[in-house]
Amino acid sequence: MTTKCFTWTRTLNRGATGNDVKQLQIRIAGWVGYGETLAIDGDFGPATGAAVKRFKAGYRMSETSETAGSPVFNLIYSLQNDDCTPQHFRYPEFDGGCGQSGFSGGAASTATVRDNLLRVMWQLEALRHKLGDRPIVISSGFRSISCNTRVGGVSGSLHTYGTAADLGTSSRPSLCEMWRMARYCGFKEILGPGYPDHDDHVHVGNKSTQFWRAADC
Ligand code: ZN
Repeated sequence: MTTKCFTWTRTLNRGATGNDVKQLQIRIAGWVGYGETLAIDGDFGPATGAAVKRFKAGYRMSETSETAGSPVFNLIYSLQNDDCTPQHFRYPEFDGGCGQSGFSGGAASTATVRDNLLRVMWQLEALRHKLGDRPIVISSGFRSISCNTRVGGVSGSLHTYGTAADLGTSSRPSLCEMWRMARYCGFKEILGPGYPDHDDHVHVGNKSTQFWRAADC
């Protein structure tokens, strides 16, 4: 258990605002309803409350109100690494691709890319837990613009912003299991088997408009 990256110092409820709310939202972003996304805006509204409830229920807590107090924060501490990443996903898994390391050369600053990836990782942690805690293997994360071009990624790919990840076939859940459950984890872009060039991975990403395709799932 660690509190090295962020420590909450008050109980949070509907109406609370601030960075502590934002830090909570990042970590429960994967606990939304079907097709929903949680705004990371530092404003504790109904959607944040609903996500807190689902998060508690997902980890079998007996008390499942909207309130985020010590039990919720202790659960988060138990799930996170010292650098704020969730237990089962680390930054190097999402590195530059094409043999590059780090998060530069993308369509956003290195700091923004890292922030975007952190949210994706917590959504993936939720996805992983909902699918029975079986390993999920990242086959591609962030890509610099030059790398994205080299591998034939679409221009403006979410991968160049750090807002997307590809889940590979060596994951324990099947591609279609991951594709289906991703719809409950806040992802707006979900592409899988049957969509061109996605028969060997599931692509999940964050953007404003919904685009879900996987004809074979
Ligand atoms: Zn992708």
